[in-house]
Amino acid sequence: MTRRWLFADQLGPHFLDSPDQPVLLVESKAVFRRRVFHRQKAHLVLSALRHLAADDDRCSLVRAETYAEAVTEPVTVCHPTSRAARALVRRLPGVEMLPPRGFVTAPQDFVAWAQGRDHLRLEDFYRHARRHHDVLMDGAEPAGGRWNFDADNREPPPAALHIPAPPPIVEDEIDERVRADLDRWERDDGIRFAGRDGPRLFPATRVEALARLDHFVEHRLPLFGPYEDAMLAGNPFMAHSMLSASINLGLLDPVEVIERAEDAYRSKGVDLRCVEGFVRQILGWRDFIWHLYWYFEPGYRASNSLGAGESLPAWFAGLDADAVSARCLSDVLAGVRDHGWVHHIPRLMVLGNYAMQRGWQPGALADWFHRSFVDGYEWVMTANVIGMSQFADAGRMSTKPYAAGGAYINRMSDYCGGCRYNPKIRLGDDACPYTAGYWSFLARHEQDLAGNHRMRRPLHGLGRLSDLEAVIEQEESRGSRAP
Ligand code: FAD
Ligand code: SF4
Repeated sequence: MTRRWLFADQLGPHFLDSPDQPVLLVESKAVFRRRVFHRQKAHLVLSALRHLAADDDRCSLVRAETYAEAVTEPVTVCHPTSRAARALVRRLPGVEMLPPRGFVTAPQDFVAWAQGRDHLRLEDFYRHARRHHDVLMDGAEPAGGRWNFDADNREPPPAALHIPAPPPIVEDEIDERVRADLDRWERDDGIRFAGRDGPRLFPATRVEALARLDHFVEHRLPLFGPYEDAMLAGNPFMAHSMLSASINLGLLDPVEVIERAEDAYRSKGVDLRCVEGFVRQILGWRDFIWHLYWYFEPGYRASNSLGAGESLPAWFAGLDADAVSARCLSDVLAGVRDHGWVHHIPRLMVLGNYAMQRGWQPGALADWFHRSFVDGYEWVMTANVIGMSQFADAGRMSTKPYAAGGAYINRMSDYCGGCRYNPKIRLGDDACPYTAGYWSFLARHEQDLAGNHRMRRPLHGLGRLSDLEAVIEQEESRGSRAP
């Protein structure tokens, strides 16, 4: 049987044709020379590759500077997850590329759904995927009679939330060797990493990933729904699954994750609002973002419809949470620095929102997210950052920019009470940088957003601000300083 070359994000059994297929794994140092990745991301990827090689004698692990040096015999490989990797695969002699795996909807089915539509919207794709794959359906109708429980899933955080923490990872001698190698690369090879090292927080093996999935379905899924969008300073994980890194490494098949969630509803009586909310993330959002990466033209990543040209300031790029007084931003940046992970709302409404308000370059921000998060990959960054978070594609995938002032963060978190700023104030020493930034952003882009009916009310609000000029001046003079 021809050997299967597995990229480091294709590590699960669903990337093989049979359990006894021989495998080629490649550990390439050049990847780490090209970009400054989070230290814990580098650790996770190397640990996952090396664990698979050690646990399974069908695998041969080749250490090489580049992939081209390592792939010297005929192999098959599943369609890789970036354009650059696909171009490489096409260039290498003797490599046969198979269709992609690790996602639910097939590319041709997505294209058939998307073609001829003026707007590509998650909700429409998600309903199509539910029907097509018969997920959470009772015959032709959605389970429970509703497609969407989002309105029930936007509760502000409760005063305290008791959710069992995910089971800890026990590091072993492979992790020890990875840590020693990364230390040596930093010391002797001039390779640089971002963020802090720390105990490995995410699964590197299928066994660890399955244990996390079991624990999530039993203990955390029943609480996933209502507080999905909430943030608590002392509880960064809330009821989120923390499975993105495992699914994106290929340790878990999204199909099995969805089946487990549906089974929790059908056989264990877990609240449909929680299960639907979770299934929407994977069958809906994850697949949607993946297909958009390939469906949109390669130039999509350079979209910049709002003309955002500012560089990322050093305090942000370098994850210097201590330089920041704004409590929400400082806490979230510290989460990225210490874990390489925060959940969706801090990514969108704290980090992305701040960047969009200040006109930071969308492409540079996408690169920062890719390098700084343990679950970051080229395919997942592009539509999430360029489209959803920065509205740099002029609304090809979202109906409006995710711009919000301090009032949103105050409603959805416990940050503002302990902050030196006041979310209600937009001018002066106590002005919340999100509130001031929001009005300043709207004023700057009034013309760009004028035709968007969902922005009509916020733009109308601009006219009522007698101090708008002063707010804009204040924000301009803040410049790139940490808030
Ligand atoms: P849960 O909240 O438990 O959701 C379940 C699963 O749904 C996730 O594990 C993930 O596989 C999937 N999912 C949900 N939303 C998305 C989405 N928008 N895109 C892709 N998958 C999704 N996700 C990544 O996997 N890698 C990234 O680098 C990444 N960067 C992001 C950057 C920005 C600016 C934004 C707004 C979102 C980003 N996301 C990314 C999507 C989402 O924030 C993460 O998938 C999620 O926070 C991971 O935590 P979780 O596993 O606990 O997710
Ligand atoms: Fe963040 Fe503003 Fe609230 Fe402070 S007041 S935590 S800066 S939203």
